Amino acid sequence: MKIFNPATLAEIADVPADTAESVARKYARARAAQPAWAATPIEDRLVAIQGFRDALIAKMDTLALTLTREMGKPVSQARNEIAAMNGRLEFFLKATADLLKPERVFQSEGLEEIIDHEPLGVVANISAWNYPYFVGSNVFAPALLTGNVVLYKPSELTSLTGLAIADMLHAAGVPEDAFIPIIGGAEAGQALIAQPIDALFFTGSYGTGRRLAEATAGRLFKTQFELGGKDPTYVCDDVDVRTAAEGLADGAFYNAGQSCCSVERLYVHERIAPAFLEAFVNTVKGFVVGDPEATATYIGPLARAQQIQVLEAQVKDAVGKGARLLCGGKRADRAGNYFEPTVLASVTNSMSVMREESFGPIIGIEAVANDDVAVARMNDTDYGLTAGVYTPNRARATDILKKVNAGSVYWNCCDRVSPRLPWTGRKNSGLGSTLSKVGITAFVQPKAWHLRSA
Ligand code: NAD
Repeated sequence: MKIFNPATLAEIADVPADTAESVARKYARARAAQPAWAATPIEDRLVAIQGFRDALIAKMDTLALTLTREMGKPVSQARNEIAAMNGRLEFFLKATADLLKPERVFQSEGLEEIIDHEPLGVVANISAWNYPYFVGSNVFAPALLTGNVVLYKPSELTSLTGLAIADMLHAAGVPEDAFIPIIGGAEAGQALIAQPIDALFFTGSYGTGRRLAEATAGRLFKTQFELGGKDPTYVCDDVDVRTAAEGLADGAFYNAGQSCCSVERLYVHERIAPAFLEAFVNTVKGFVVGDPEATATYIGPLARAQQIQVLEAQVKDAVGKGARLLCGGKRADRAGNYFEPTVLASVTNSMSVMREESFGPIIGIEAVANDDVAVARMNDTDYGLTAGVYTPNRARATDILKKVNAGSVYWNCCDRVSPRLPWTGRKNSGLGSTLSKVGITAFVQPKAWHLRSA
């Protein structure tokens, strides 16, 4: 499988892709390895993940460059992602052992009742490319710590990062058969879910997630889906306009808008809308677009060439229905998969830019008359990943956010993930949770012990 740099379109590597036969062989190795890994003391499993964490930090520069070259993420943002792995893995390292402890829930007259936790077994982890370290480790770190073995399929767009992750885990003490990378695209993913796995943890688009849900329907194993979003933020009339505009422009355009929780829709109170639009567009025009290997670059190329057509179609649809194009709107005039940072105003929820996930450097902004209209607009979506409100008034924000149907809600912040909080989508944004204690217990199944001593 050839790997191309999206900034230059040059081929940078050629890696062997898995076939249905090699996937089946890898599955058999993982299945055979699982009992021994589950029997490995938790202390040893913790040491292995600690070693992985240390390797990430030690090799940060090389790993960041690899990620930048294969998916176009600006190198400063690639470094941010890898640096933030420290806190994320620390959370898992601290929280897991306690959660695995058996709990005696009853004891009387020779009868004991205990809840214990056992791993699910062989976990398939089919992952996305946009934050490969984050979304991969949300699954494989707690899965391995709780005694599962993992068949890890990184996105075909971040195969080199996936292989580097496997090397670091193995060097840190995770047996080669307890964490096995599967390289390839949709066909490799299909071959993986065809195996008699015990669980599927998927991160990717709604379309693929739904196809996998259909393909695995009827097989009674655990599935989790972390899918896309069309995340809204409402800006109230009492904000400091410039601060809100700068924060939200970052939330919309960081990683070229290729975050599942990017701000994708903005509703702004009509009283401040003109001033907000001006400040927002000024911020966006200041973003440095260019070579992702340059440390000053804020917006690099899109990882996927095809996404440019999606964005062009969204602009055409919006302008055709009356939106105003304030900046950008087309492919950038340079080699590589670049799209100009784009701001559309006077949009409505009937436009595809306000309904379909854009996953690119583009945002639609609508002025709204009051908080009730904003709530109605925010909820008018098939997705439910995150939603936010900007206002100095906490009571006003919480009142609005309680009415919004989303898994994560933000007050005066956006595009944010915390290892301490569950990461969970509603509606077409997914099923199940990663991160937090909930995202650790997702990888174990309870065993109920009824013990009578006589
Ligand atoms: P994608 O759906 O194209 O691919 C995801 C993974 O599925 C890849 O590994 C891919 O090779 C594999 N795949 C594709 N077709 C398959 C098939 N038919 N059978 C089995 N496997 C198949 O998504 P992507 O472009 O890699 O990622 C971007 C999407 O992921 C966006 O929608 C984004 O919002 C979402 N995402 C969600 C979260 C979250 O936490 N909710 C996090 C990151 C990304």
